Amino acid sequence: MGEDLKTLARLQLTEDRIAETSKVRDELVIKVETQTAIVKDLTKKRNEVQDRFDAAKREWREIEESVDTKKAELKKWEARLQTLQDWREQQALNSAIREHKRTIEFAETTANEKIAVVEELEASFNAAQEALETAQNNIGALNEELSVQQVATSEALESEMSHRQALLESIPDEDRRRYVNLVGSIKRRPAIAVTVARKGICGFCNVTMQPQNWIEVQRQEKIIYCQGCRRAMVHESVMAAGAELEAAGILAS
Ligand SMILES: [Zn+2]
Repeated sequence: MGEDLKTLARLQLTEDRIAETSKVRDELVIKVETQTAIVKDLTKKRNEVQDRFDAAKREWREIEESVDTKKAELKKWEARLQTLQDWREQQALNSAIREHKRTIEFAETTANEKIAVVEELEASFNAAQEALETAQNNIGALNEELSVQQVATSEALESEMSHRQALLESIPDEDRRRYVNLVGSIKRRPAIAVTVARKGICGFCNVTMQPQNWIEVQRQEKIIYCQGCRRAMVHESVMAAGAELEAAGILAS
């Protein structure tokens, strides 16, 4: 079995592990982003409720103040009533006082209604604030988890990348260039650069290869590239041998 073939199989397995290693970290990054969006949304909701709560409180206070002002006026008018001698003037002031009392009563009813609104909004605000704090705590825990994961991931990746480099250096220049170019042009991870061919068919793009190429793949000596997708095609026993070497942790030299 060709050594370069086994090395290619090992490169693909390393590529798979690199993707797997990054996945845990990448999923956490997405979780943090999602949670950040939730916190933003909850902050907006909390602020909206707070604005409505503040506005309702202001309205209630204004009504209370107007009631106080009107009551003070009423006292003055009632005092003045005692000093009036003219019957007509007394009647006029009396009617003004009655009207003022009705206005005060109405304002007091409105103030009571406003208080109920203020209390309701206060309860909504407390609930919104609590939801926000819970979400903020979650994001704190996630960020901690992520920073631990970042360290573990970069350590693992560093080791995988140097392993990958060592494998790359041990294959012929031409094949290394092909491999690096292909992986570089693929956005998806894991990038598939080496595939198992079965029954004369490329395992990646399903193109039927030329009979001579299938014979070469089965001989397991030369690297054969798919004419359809340009990937290296190996026999399944080559992939199995590569997996065995990777499991044994044998360094490429
Ligand atoms: Zn192919």
